[in-house]
Amino acid sequence: MPMGLVASVLPDLDLFRFYVLDHRRVPHHEYWTHIPLWWAIITATWCLGLVVMGRRTAVAGGAVFFGNIFLHLVLDTVAGGVAWLAPFSRHVFALVSVPAGHHWWVWNFVLHWTFALELLVVAWALGEAVRKWERAMPPPAPHEATGASSEARRLENG
Ligand SMILES: [Zn+2]
Repeated sequence: MPMGLVASVLPDLDLFRFYVLDHRRVPHHEYWTHIPLWWAIITATWCLGLVVMGRRTAVAGGAVFFGNIFLHLVLDTVAGGVAWLAPFSRHVFALVSVPAGHHWWVWNFVLHWTFALELLVVAWALGEAVRKWERAMPPPAPHEATGASSEARRLENG
Protein backbone atom coordinates (compact mmCIF):
# COMPACT_ATOMS: atom_id res chain seq x y z
CA MET A 1 0.00 0.00 0.00
CA PRO A 2 2.66 2.63 0.86
CA MET A 3 4.54 1.89 -2.36
CA GLY A 4 1.28 2.19 -4.28
CA LEU A 5 0.74 5.64 -2.77
CA VAL A 6 4.29 6.67 -3.68
CA ALA A 7 3.80 5.40 -7.22
CA SER A 8 0.52 7.28 -7.59
CA VAL A 9 2.32 10.63 -7.27
CA LEU A 10 5.66 9.61 -8.79
CA PRO A 11 4.98 11.11 -12.26
CA ASP A 12 4.36 14.50 -10.63
CA LEU A 13 7.88 14.64 -9.21
CA ASP A 14 8.57 16.55 -12.39
CA LEU A 15 6.85 19.52 -10.74
CA PHE A 16 10.16 20.18 -8.98
CA ARG A 17 11.86 20.58 -12.34
CA PHE A 18 8.87 22.52 -13.68
CA TYR A 19 8.94 25.13 -10.90
CA VAL A 20 12.56 25.19 -9.73
CA LEU A 21 14.74 24.39 -12.73
CA ASP A 22 12.65 25.36 -15.75
CA HIS A 23 10.67 28.19 -14.11
CA ARG A 24 7.35 27.00 -15.63
CA ARG A 25 8.56 27.39 -19.23
CA VAL A 26 7.81 23.74 -20.21
CA PRO A 27 4.45 22.08 -19.42
CA HIS A 28 5.30 19.43 -16.87
CA HIS A 29 3.30 16.76 -18.73
CA GLU A 30 5.99 16.93 -21.43
CA TYR A 31 8.71 15.63 -19.12
CA TRP A 32 9.63 11.93 -19.28
CA THR A 33 7.74 11.12 -16.07
CA HIS A 34 4.48 11.73 -17.94
CA ILE A 35 5.46 9.72 -21.03
CA PRO A 36 3.77 6.28 -20.88
CA LEU A 37 6.32 4.55 -23.13
CA TRP A 38 9.15 5.12 -20.64
CA TRP A 39 7.04 3.69 -17.81
CA ALA A 40 6.11 0.73 -20.03
CA ILE A 41 9.80 0.05 -20.64
CA ILE A 42 10.59 0.34 -16.93
CA THR A 43 7.62 -1.91 -16.09
CA ALA A 44 8.66 -4.54 -18.64
CA THR A 45 12.26 -4.43 -17.43
CA TRP A 46 11.11 -4.81 -13.82
CA CYS A 47 8.87 -7.78 -14.63
CA LEU A 48 11.55 -9.44 -16.77
CA GLY A 49 14.08 -8.97 -13.96
CA LEU A 50 11.74 -10.63 -11.45
CA VAL A 51 11.12 -13.56 -13.76
CA VAL A 52 14.85 -14.01 -14.47
CA MET A 53 15.61 -13.87 -10.73
CA GLY A 54 12.81 -16.37 -10.05
CA ARG A 55 10.90 -13.94 -7.85
CA ARG A 56 7.54 -14.32 -9.51
CA THR A 57 5.70 -13.68 -6.24
CA ALA A 58 6.96 -10.08 -6.27
CA VAL A 59 5.13 -9.45 -9.54
CA ALA A 60 1.96 -8.54 -7.60
CA GLY A 61 3.79 -5.71 -5.80
CA GLY A 62 5.11 -4.45 -9.12
CA ALA A 63 1.61 -4.60 -10.59
CA VAL A 64 0.31 -2.35 -7.79
CA PHE A 65 3.28 0.02 -8.12
CA PHE A 66 3.23 0.38 -11.89
CA GLY A 67 -0.56 0.13 -12.01
CA ASN A 68 -0.75 3.26 -9.88
CA ILE A 69 1.66 5.07 -12.18
CA PHE A 70 -0.48 4.24 -15.19
CA LEU A 71 -3.65 5.16 -13.28
CA HIS A 72 -2.02 8.55 -12.65
CA LEU A 73 -1.40 8.93 -16.39
CA VAL A 74 -4.97 7.90 -17.23
CA LEU A 75 -6.40 10.41 -14.76
CA ASP A 76 -4.06 13.08 -16.15
CA THR A 77 -5.46 12.27 -19.58
CA VAL A 78 -9.00 13.15 -18.48
CA ALA A 79 -8.37 16.85 -17.96
CA GLY A 80 -4.67 17.66 -18.17
CA GLY A 81 -3.49 15.76 -21.21
CA VAL A 82 -0.83 13.12 -21.79
CA ALA A 83 1.23 12.46 -24.93
CA TRP A 84 0.46 8.74 -25.09
CA LEU A 85 2.33 8.25 -28.37
CA ALA A 86 5.50 10.11 -27.35
CA PRO A 87 8.27 10.12 -28.36
CA PHE A 88 6.83 9.21 -31.78
CA SER A 89 4.18 11.94 -31.65
CA ARG A 90 3.88 15.05 -29.52
CA HIS A 91 0.07 15.01 -29.74
CA VAL A 92 -1.41 15.47 -26.26
CA PHE A 93 -4.55 13.45 -25.58
CA ALA A 94 -7.03 15.10 -23.22
CA LEU A 95 -10.64 14.01 -22.86
CA VAL A 96 -11.92 17.28 -21.40
CA SER A 97 -10.73 20.85 -21.63
CA VAL A 98 -10.74 22.62 -18.26
CA PRO A 99 -11.42 26.34 -18.68
CA ALA A 100 -9.20 28.80 -16.83
CA GLY A 101 -11.55 30.70 -14.55
CA HIS A 102 -9.62 31.07 -11.34
CA HIS A 103 -6.55 33.12 -10.50
CA TRP A 104 -4.66 30.09 -9.11
CA TRP A 105 -4.66 27.37 -11.79
CA VAL A 106 -5.09 24.56 -9.23
CA TRP A 107 -8.66 25.76 -8.48
CA ASN A 108 -9.54 25.30 -12.16
CA PHE A 109 -8.95 21.56 -11.72
CA VAL A 110 -10.11 21.08 -8.13
CA LEU A 111 -13.46 22.80 -8.79
CA HIS A 112 -14.03 21.05 -12.15
CA TRP A 113 -16.35 18.01 -12.28
CA THR A 114 -13.50 15.79 -13.49
CA PHE A 115 -11.87 16.09 -10.07
CA ALA A 116 -14.68 13.85 -8.79
CA LEU A 117 -12.99 10.96 -10.65
CA GLU A 118 -9.85 11.49 -8.60
CA LEU A 119 -11.92 11.67 -5.41
CA LEU A 120 -13.62 8.37 -6.37
CA VAL A 121 -10.23 6.69 -6.68
CA VAL A 122 -9.16 8.08 -3.30
CA ALA A 123 -12.46 6.97 -1.70
CA TRP A 124 -12.07 3.48 -3.17
CA ALA A 125 -8.48 3.24 -1.88
CA LEU A 126 -9.56 4.42 1.58
CA GLY A 127 -12.36 1.82 1.58
CA GLU A 128 -9.87 -0.90 0.69
CA ALA A 129 -7.51 0.29 3.44
CA VAL A 130 -10.32 0.21 6.03
CA ARG A 131 -11.40 -3.29 4.91
CA LYS A 132 -7.78 -4.50 5.11
CA TRP A 133 -7.42 -2.93 8.56
CA GLU A 134 -10.65 -4.57 9.75
CA ARG A 135 -9.51 -7.99 8.49
CA ALA A 136 -6.21 -7.55 10.33
CA MET A 137 -7.95 -6.77 13.62
CA PRO A 138 -8.26 -9.71 16.05
CA PRO A 139 -11.81 -11.02 16.53
CA PRO A 140 -13.62 -9.46 19.51
CA ALA A 141 -13.52 -11.26 22.84
CA PRO A 142 -16.82 -13.01 23.70
CA HIS A 143 -17.91 -10.35 26.21
CA GLU A 144 -17.20 -7.60 23.61
CA ALA A 145 -19.20 -9.43 20.96
CA THR A 146 -22.38 -9.29 23.11
CA GLY A 147 -22.05 -5.54 23.47
CA ALA A 148 -22.23 -5.79 27.27
CA SER A 149 -20.66 -2.85 29.03
CA SER A 150 -17.87 -3.30 31.52
CA GLU A 151 -20.30 -2.28 34.29
CA ALA A 152 -22.75 -5.03 33.25
CA ARG A 153 -19.93 -7.58 33.18
CA ARG A 154 -18.82 -6.48 36.64
CA LEU A 155 -22.37 -6.95 37.96
CA GLU A 156 -22.64 -10.35 36.21
CA ASN A 157 -19.39 -11.56 37.72
CA GLY A 158 -20.30 -10.27 41.17
ZN1 LIG B 1 0.59 14.08 -13.34
